[in-house]
Order: sequence, then C-alpha cells, then structure tokens
Amino acid sequence: MEVIYAKCNKSCGYKFYVQSFKNVRLNHTIEKNYFTCPNCGREYVCFYTDDNVRKLQAELRKLYLEMRRVNGFQYRKLKKIESALKQSIFNSMTDIKNMVER
Ligand SMILES: [Zn+2]
Repeated sequence: MEVIYAKCNKSCGYKFYVQSFKNVRLNHTIEKNYFTCPNCGREYVCFYTDDNVRKLQAELRKLYLEMRRVNGFQYRKLKKIESALKQSIFNSMTDIKNMVER
C-alpha cells in the first residue's frame, strides 16, 4: 500500500508516516481499518468494511489488473465500471460508518 503522511491532529500534533493499517473485527462481518499515533497512541479510523465491501474491493483489484492489459474502447469501458465500483464501495463504507459510529 502507499505510505500516508499523517498528523495527530486530534491529540498531540505529532507528524508521522503510516506504513500500514491495522484492522480489527467488530462483529462477524464488519472490520475496522485504522492506524494509531506512534507518539500518544491516539486511534484514527480510516474506514470500515463488511463482507460486501471486501468483495467489491477484490473486484476492483481484478479490474485494475485487467485495465493494464487493454486500451482504447475496452479501457474506457472498464474505467466506467471502475468508477461505479468505487462509488458503491464509498457508499457502503459510509453506511457502515454511520451505523457503527452512531
Ligand atoms: Zn499523537
């Protein structure tokens, strides 16, 4: 995964690079992806996933592989599928977040 530059803006103000997300199961399907500040341990939630979101993410990864092999019309077609997939992943993540953090 790409390295993210983060700042502990809710707590100590420490600046650091996030090398990897941690994840923890909240129940039989929902997983919380987060990282913590190495200085004070404050937790920052990145996103939540459930079985459905993880399925869509897997589809997206497959799509990216496919997109490397094609071009022109095919590529544009896949690009459309990509944005639809990303949109539904985003929507589902938002739904789960609202449900969990309510
Ligand atoms: Zn901190």
